[in-house]
Amino acid sequence: MSAMMRPLQPQPLNPADLSLAPVYARLGAPFHQPVAATSLAEPRMVHFNAPLAGMLGLEAKAETDFLEILAGNRPWPGYAASASVYAGHQFGTWVPQLGDGRALLIAELLAPDGERVELQLKGAGQTPYSRGLDGRAVLRSSIREYLGAEAMHALGVPTTRCLSLVGSSQPVVRETAETAAVVCRTAASFVRFGQFEYFAARSQLGPMARLADHVIAEHFPHLQGQPNRYAAWLGEVVERTARLIAQWQLLGFCHGVMNTDNFSVLGLTLDYGPFGFMDRFRQYHVCNHSDYEGRYAYSAQPEIGLWNCERLAQALSPLLAEKPEQAAEVGQDVLQGYAPVYKRVVMQGWADKLGFREQREGDSRLVNEFLGLLQRSRGDFTRSFRLLARIRADSDALAKGVREEFADIKAFDAWVADYRGRLRGEQNTDDAARAERMNRVNPKYVLRNHLAQIAIDKAQLGDYSEVATLAELLRHPYDEQPEMENYAAEPPDYMRNIEVSCSS
Ligand code: AMP
Ligand code: MG
Repeated sequence: MSAMMRPLQPQPLNPADLSLAPVYARLGAPFHQPVAATSLAEPRMVHFNAPLAGMLGLEAKAETDFLEILAGNRPWPGYAASASVYAGHQFGTWVPQLGDGRALLIAELLAPDGERVELQLKGAGQTPYSRGLDGRAVLRSSIREYLGAEAMHALGVPTTRCLSLVGSSQPVVRETAETAAVVCRTAASFVRFGQFEYFAARSQLGPMARLADHVIAEHFPHLQGQPNRYAAWLGEVVERTARLIAQWQLLGFCHGVMNTDNFSVLGLTLDYGPFGFMDRFRQYHVCNHSDYEGRYAYSAQPEIGLWNCERLAQALSPLLAEKPEQAAEVGQDVLQGYAPVYKRVVMQGWADKLGFREQREGDSRLVNEFLGLLQRSRGDFTRSFRLLARIRADSDALAKGVREEFADIKAFDAWVADYRGRLRGEQNTDDAARAERMNRVNPKYVLRNHLAQIAIDKAQLGDYSEVATLAELLRHPYDEQPEMENYAAEPPDYMRNIEVSCSS
């Protein structure tokens, strides 16, 4: 319609004009199969990420021009959509075949900045890997993925991103009747640990090496031509994973489904299902109500990250050395890199969150005591860290509101005395400058479950305004945004225990 009405206008949004860079597509079988999206009834744009669209060389008007493509009702001109095969360890159990059961790669673009970006539709219908499921995603979980991924990006965490969120009248049955939505997510690559596990388990070493070569050439080009490039590459994946999980811990972020099929070889946060930012701090917080054993509890995430890297190392083993014993040794060596990187990044991160300019002995004790205090006081993770910036090194006066957060005021006062002593031990202590530094690492706003839920409840009635409000709010998570103060508050009691599960 738009083309007919505006025949003479320039068409910067015509997908055909955008530079397709089909590199992953050329890998072909056995990595992925061509699959067309299934059409979606009465698609409507719930939210369109105009800034990201701009970065991709699409303009904001793309919203209307692209609706049908982003809904899965029209293919991207010149690109054959595909679904990739993978395997994975789900909650510790080996599953020999999984795959993009409801995700389709619909385009690979060369963005104006020279980066190659892949576009995936999630929820665009069945694929050969749907295993009897419907290939759809509900509006509820799609809103969570859309806002969650963009919130993480703005927080500075490596993640897949979301370009659009399309709702529909298409019915989908979960525990109740819901409607389908399609998210268009973007990443430099969606390659998962589980893809390597798939080929390794079938002893298909040729394809496994080809996939590794593709990833190295495209995403780790500096490793090409190195004597043991596979080991070096594994080392970088291990390091990126350790860094990523350190960042999750520092933000109180729980992924919820840290299966190896949800782990990106680029070290991106991938597959937002029953994820959550903690409100009240609990070491053993489990955000996914389907995770009965707490395998992916907050405190378990660092260890699970390593466990997943071990599964990747095991899969890649035949590429690491000719003899199995040698390969095992190389793998072990590389995996040794995880703990020190994790520890370094997380300790630096905690030091930054407390406003220390340099790390000192005893800092980890201060951090652990603070977290213990937070847990015993049932304190809010995000709020409490943010409020710490109000404490002054040189005066007993506690800025309004900090002390009140803690049930055990005596213990808090004792900790603050220690903390202030530590602050005074640094040279050039300047409270204002420290507060400013702290506010750049302790976010004011995160996507709390209850905020997402309010947006979901409205959207399910056809009102998308709260999705837009949150999208805008979470673009600047470290800014004060005084008119949005409510959004920094803890959930009201009746919204504390919103259940999020694997149902999506
Ligand atoms: P997830 O827990 O969302 O990472 O999904 C695990 C696997 O199940 C992936 O291979 C998904 O593609 C697949 N899957 C989940 N939900 C659906 C669905 N509704 N239709 C088809 N496949 C699905
Ligand atoms: Mg998944």
